[in-house]
Amino acid sequence: MSCVSWVTAAGPLPTAAGRPIMPAPHHRGRAVSDVFLLLISPFVGSFLGVLVLRLPRGEGVVAGRSRCPHCQATLGVADLVPLLSYLLRGGKCRHCGARLSWLYPGIELAALGVAGWALWVLSGSGQAEAWLVWAGAGLGWALLALALIDLRHFLLPDAITLPLIPAGLAVAWLVDPAKLLPHVLGAAAGFLAFAALAWGYRRLRGREGLGLGDAKLFAAAGAWVSWSGLGSVLLWAVLLALAVTLVVGLRRGGLSGRTPLPFGAYLAAGLWLTWLYGPLQPAWALT
Ligand SMILES: [Zn+2]
Repeated sequence: MSCVSWVTAAGPLPTAAGRPIMPAPHHRGRAVSDVFLLLISPFVGSFLGVLVLRLPRGEGVVAGRSRCPHCQATLGVADLVPLLSYLLRGGKCRHCGARLSWLYPGIELAALGVAGWALWVLSGSGQAEAWLVWAGAGLGWALLALALIDLRHFLLPDAITLPLIPAGLAVAWLVDPAKLLPHVLGAAAGFLAFAALAWGYRRLRGREGLGLGDAKLFAAAGAWVSWSGLGSVLLWAVLLALAVTLVVGLRRGGLSGRTPLPFGAYLAAGLWLTWLYGPLQPAWALT
C-alpha cells in the first residue's frame, strides 16, 4: 500500500484534444491554497524556532515576547518578519549589533522547504486535495521541530509527539474511514515495540538507551503510515543514523558506544519519507 496512491484516485486533469481546459473552480481553489501555504510557511518557521528554543527549557511558548539574547532588547514587529528582517539587518541585532543565530532564518527556510516538498510530491501524485497538502505540511513542520530539539537536547517533547497521534488518525479517517483500524493498530504497535525495546535495553545495559519519547514518536508514525509503514520508517531511520554516525565518526576520528544518538531525529526523517513516498518495497513485490 502506498500512501501516495490513496490521494490519486481522482486521476489527472482532463484535456480536450490536447488543449488544456479551463481549470475548474476546485483547482483554482487549490492554487490559492498553495500560494497561501507557501506565504505563511516562513512565519510558521519563526514559531517553530521559538518552540525549538523554549520547549526544552520548559518556558512558555506563547507568553513572553521574543528578545535579543545578547542585549535583552524586546524585538519589535519589524524584527519578526521571517527571512527578510534577518537579511536586511545582515544577521545582526538592531540594538546592540550582536550576531544573531543562523538558527532563526535556517528554520524559517526549512519550514518553507518542508511545505514546498509536501506540495511538490502530493501535486505530482495527481490532485491531492488542499487539506491533505496542509496536513502534510503540518506533519513536516512538527517533525522538523522534533528533529531539531532532539539534535540539540536529546529530547522529544510530549507537547509535539502526543498531538501527532490523533492528528495522524484523523487524517487516515478523512482519507478513507476504512483505513482507520490499520492506523490505530500501527500507533499501538509502534508504541509497544519501542517501549519493549527501551525496557530490554535498560535491563541489558543498565542505562537508558531509548527514551519513551522515541516510543511516542514511533506511535505517531504508526498513526500516520499505519502498521504496514512502520518497517520503512525504522529502516530509513537506521540507515540515516548509520550514515550520519559513520561520516561524523570518521571526521572526528573515532566512535564510542557511549556517543549519544539523537535517534528521534532519524525517526522523524523516516516518518516524513515514508508518509510522502509510501513504504519501501523489495523489488520482487513491485510487479
Ligand atoms: Zn541585541
